[in-house]
Amino acid sequence: MSYEPFLDDQGLKNTVPPALGGAGETFALQQTLAREVACSGVGVHSGQTVHMRLCPASENTGIVFIRTDLVNGARTVNARWDNVVDTRLCTVIGNDHGGRVATVEHLMAALFACGVDNARIEIDGGEVPVMDGSADVFVGLLDEAGLARQKAPRRVIDILAPVDIVCEGRRVSLSPAAEPRYSVTIDFDSAPIKRQRYDMVLSPDAFRDEISRARTFGFFEQVDQLKKMGLAQGGSLENSIIIKDGRVLNEDGLRYEDEFVRHKLLDAIGDLALAGAVLRGHFEGACCGHALNNRLLRALFSKPDAWRIAEDGFWGLHAAVA
Ligand SMILES: [Zn+2]
Repeated sequence: MSYEPFLDDQGLKNTVPPALGGAGETFALQQTLAREVACSGVGVHSGQTVHMRLCPASENTGIVFIRTDLVNGARTVNARWDNVVDTRLCTVIGNDHGGRVATVEHLMAALFACGVDNARIEIDGGEVPVMDGSADVFVGLLDEAGLARQKAPRRVIDILAPVDIVCEGRRVSLSPAAEPRYSVTIDFDSAPIKRQRYDMVLSPDAFRDEISRARTFGFFEQVDQLKKMGLAQGGSLENSIIIKDGRVLNEDGLRYEDEFVRHKLLDAIGDLALAGAVLRGHFEGACCGHALNNRLLRALFSKPDAWRIAEDGFWGLHAAVA
């Protein structure tokens, strides 16, 4: 991946302002994949093996899933906040014809954070493969694909006024900020977790270095219970951190000392990516999860005074070109 100066159609050079990282000249145009890439794996909840292809898509498509095992209207599911149909264990999107795709959040986080605005995701089952439980494999796939810049400006939304949701000791909020910032706090009454906080300004490099490898986690007793209920069928030590009696069961231990909160931040990035635009604002989550993250987007978009489409379209930071 390299940063290159870019001249737009008028021959003007777009430069990332220092407040947005200033890692080099870049631009605020949409990007897609330079070529198709594919992977296979099991769904953490369904336990079913699925094949998935990430393909280029034209400007202003956004991220769209195509269920290749379904027909007609059920095939196409747009990855948008208003298509979220279930948030109990993961984020599930669906259409009016019964087509659904579950556990989209880790893939959405990788696409969004790496600067992919448009992609067609072909998948032959109802759940995105969990791979190692993080976004690491998806980031690797995007590296393999390379990115191609497109003509249309990137969609950026400015947060103009605070929006928050408070529910049973949990809280999520968005407030105005100069750059996309995420702060997450978690508090578990369990030895390896306890209280953890992570704060970051999102950029492709920060996501790759600090967040992308953080895995999902669960408690042994709950996993057992979920499996008996027919859920978490694909869950294992290969794709989740499992905690039992205050101890991490995975032989190799943790990838980061505070891997748990980093994963919650990864989830939040993926869930908020369903806004279909970069949110230039500060997301804060305390004990947040998929349900609250989606409720926050619904609250935001129901308040026309709280946001507007940015005029400068800045959030460049990513200038990899195939
Ligand atoms: Zn997750």
